[in-house]
Amino acid sequence: MDIKRLVCNQKESLYRVLDIINQNGKGIVFAVGEDERFMGTITDGDIRRAILTKCSLETHASEILDRKSALFAQILALCTQEDVKRKLERKSIFASIDTPVEKLLTMVDRRVRVIPLLDEQERVVDFFEYKAAFHAPVASPVFRGNELTYLVDCIESNWISSQGRYVSDFESQFANYSGTAHGIAVSSGTAALHLALAALGLGPGDEVIIPDLTFAATANAVIYTGATPVLVDIDPDNWCVDPMQIEAHITPRTRAVIPVHLYGRPADMRAVMAIARRHDLYVIEDCAEALGATLGGRRVGGFGHVGCFSFFANKIMTTGEGGMCVCRDEALARRMRTLRDHGMSPDRKYWHQDIGFNYRMTNLQAAVGLAQLEQINDLLRARERIQKAYDLKLGNLAAVSVPPRQAGCRNVTWLASYLLDSQIDRDDFIRQASHHGIDVRPFFYPLSDMPPYRGMAPAATPHAHNISLQGVSLPTSPCLKKDVYHRILEILYWMLTRRTETVQTPLALGA
Ligand SMILES: *Cc1c(COP(=O)(O)O)cnc(C)c1O
Repeated sequence: MDIKRLVCNQKESLYRVLDIINQNGKGIVFAVGEDERFMGTITDGDIRRAILTKCSLETHASEILDRKSALFAQILALCTQEDVKRKLERKSIFASIDTPVEKLLTMVDRRVRVIPLLDEQERVVDFFEYKAAFHAPVASPVFRGNELTYLVDCIESNWISSQGRYVSDFESQFANYSGTAHGIAVSSGTAALHLALAALGLGPGDEVIIPDLTFAATANAVIYTGATPVLVDIDPDNWCVDPMQIEAHITPRTRAVIPVHLYGRPADMRAVMAIARRHDLYVIEDCAEALGATLGGRRVGGFGHVGCFSFFANKIMTTGEGGMCVCRDEALARRMRTLRDHGMSPDRKYWHQDIGFNYRMTNLQAAVGLAQLEQINDLLRARERIQKAYDLKLGNLAAVSVPPRQAGCRNVTWLASYLLDSQIDRDDFIRQASHHGIDVRPFFYPLSDMPPYRGMAPAATPHAHNISLQGVSLPTSPCLKKDVYHRILEILYWMLTRRTETVQTPLALGA
């Protein structure tokens, strides 16, 4: 916002000041003198109080400043406690333009949200707003282990590209973690999906069944190979692909299925694998959002022919950008390694058997990945702890629901995700939360609603649509401090309960 919209001359009438406040929407104006020096802050509350004590709308703004300073002089004179004194002095708070943000953060509180920033001539040149001081992002990475040590080791040893011990260490430890034999580290989760499909020989004329509710990369990877995604509905109880819908849409062209473990919930892999065996289909698990989730004690990624993971910065563990394919079959692993590296023969330099890709992960990324994997239990626990706090406070509200846990599954928390009651306007809820500094995200849109994927769903997908429309993910950064997520909870609880009341009142009156 242009600072001019927050400044007025102290000789202006209160009527004019109210007009400025009304237009800037901040509830505040910075009054300045003839020489443009900052004289004091006037809030809409100050004007209300002035009018109640017989000021008129023609009164000059300076009058309010005089009253305020007189009042403060009195109170301060009477006040003996230093901390109370300091609090009171905050009323006409200001700071110089070069004040560091950390300092500014200590100056704001619930009542003082906007601080004028002054230049050397004490002219208001900018302002700092409290809203920015409270910002709970939906996700953020945390680095509390060996990340830096390993990175320094890469730099000092000069091993920074895709050759280097961190790549192979990360691959083997990751494969081990997911209960598979081989790990193939790649440059992103999308690359992992594309590499798996390409190595399995998917191409034009083939159909690959995927859920309609997923991140677009699942469909894009299929399209990159020339094959066609077939978008089917999800099971409303676990938000993942409905096995019956897979079976219903198998055609003679169907060659593979990509179950996506959405928002930390494992898809029903027992049913999916049984169908795949019956119809001789490849299964590629998209595990980007469910690292560590288990079914019957086995980790996701180890059920299908290939498991694909993403290490993007908002995922459960990160390498900045990065991904991994895991598999049990050695020949398939070899094929993925070759295609990852331009399709170049591993035994004959510059001999290309196939058109490959450059999907290699760097040693720098793998160094971070290995360090993150060492802390995976802590990372999962930190997210789970936040989700549990949300569950406890919001889980019982009529306005919020989560599907029940599936028997024999361990869900993980990627983002703490909930469904809002259909009476609540989800997008409005998100806007309101953002106003309070809380980053709430909507669920993905059904792919079949978006231009590139229209017509790719052979049948209606009502569950994908319903869940997409009411789903929200709440801030789940593992580094969120306890007091921050408790504050988030307070605000969300207030928003949700207030809403249900306003919905219910007219009904009660009508009855
Ligand atoms: C994040 C994500 C991907 C893509 O991962 P990138 O590393 O961003 O390429 C694929 N599928 C799902 C379900 C995802 O959430």
